[in-house]
Amino acid sequence: MTRREISPVEAPGALEFSTPPPLSLYVHVPWCVKKCPYCDFNSYPLRGGLPEAEYVAALAADLESALPLVQGRRIVSVFFGGGTPSLLSAAGLDALLSIIRARVPLPGDAEITLEANPGTVDTGKFAAFRDAGITRLSLGVQSFDPEHLRTLGRIHDAGQARRAAAFAARDFDNFNLDLMYGLPGQTVAQALADVKEALTFSPTHLSCYQLAIEPDTTFAVSPPALPDPERCADMQEAIEAGLDEAGFIHYETSAFARPERQCRHNLNYWTFGDYLGIGAGAHGKLTLRTRNAWEVRRQMRWKHPKRYLAEMNADPSALFPREGASPAERSDGGTGNPLQDEFSVAADDLPFEFMMNALRLNEGFDAALFGARTAQPLSAVETILRRAESEGLLVRDAGRIAPTRRGQRFLNRLLEMFLA
Ligand code: SF4
Repeated sequence: MTRREISPVEAPGALEFSTPPPLSLYVHVPWCVKKCPYCDFNSYPLRGGLPEAEYVAALAADLESALPLVQGRRIVSVFFGGGTPSLLSAAGLDALLSIIRARVPLPGDAEITLEANPGTVDTGKFAAFRDAGITRLSLGVQSFDPEHLRTLGRIHDAGQARRAAAFAARDFDNFNLDLMYGLPGQTVAQALADVKEALTFSPTHLSCYQLAIEPDTTFAVSPPALPDPERCADMQEAIEAGLDEAGFIHYETSAFARPERQCRHNLNYWTFGDYLGIGAGAHGKLTLRTRNAWEVRRQMRWKHPKRYLAEMNADPSALFPREGASPAERSDGGTGNPLQDEFSVAADDLPFEFMMNALRLNEGFDAALFGARTAQPLSAVETILRRAESEGLLVRDAGRIAPTRRGQRFLNRLLEMFLA
């Protein structure tokens, strides 16, 4: 899938939005204890201690610099992702949330999610995260099978996975467990056993991802033997049936939730909402009115944490006063500009970008949402919609547009149609 990029000065001026979409905040923490061999996220193994104070100060400066772009807009959800944000101390997270609350309107009932790694928790940490203001935990269990966890190169074992899931259930009434299937040597029964065990902790949400070999990962260099596609499809079907029976709603390609427990932050992505992304390598999408014209702007922060920290050149002593610390100690020539890349999305690309998100939702989207998010009439994609319908990939019913079962199964084929 390709995307035509244009510079902000070439931005189309013809877009007309009545109002910008809901706005979320994503905060990226780019370090992990060690890099998993299948992972293509912007994450780096920790060498030495976590530079927590420096990073929190950089995030504060980053947010501050972005404020003119989001002035007057409230934040509907916050997501701390990574990397491994659970490496942060509860005090660091508390400071960060205070900084966020002081700078942007964050309603008291906003969903605030933290991703956690079962290998980085002890008995009191989740409760401290909750007390700091986290309302939803997302735990990267991946599997309860010791052999599969070893193959995935995870830092936690099956005992730690169970312990962390039990802590999550004890300390949060809203939490997600991440599982993976299609693992080397995995049978359908083993994939289902992982789901069944996850259910014993009564999570409100489960994310089940099929292992894929991504470029630029250790697995891409020495790929393990994966189960054949038919067996993976069988696992997917068995997982979907098992979770349906357990009362979960399969609302997105990989996401299952108890009623009313869908992830609000991710739903904002999938309904093509806006998000400000801060932190090393964070991506953002903002619908803006600048110089009397609307644009949809995409941003990416400096990817490498070292470069990001250097550019932000933030002074942690301003946030965390320490004896002997002075701003002069960190005058390392930063620019204060967090951006590695920024561009306006061409109007022609918005329908595809919208579909790439909204068609992940099994219930699809309200037809009116297309116009609200892309500033274009649905007639702009009418021919493609008809073709997708005639191929049995899409269905239109009572003002909603949704992928069929077949469309869900062949989602890439369906999306490619909107690229043409
Ligand atoms: S813990 Fe998560 S983010 Fe970190 S390397 Fe492993 S998969 Fe990637």
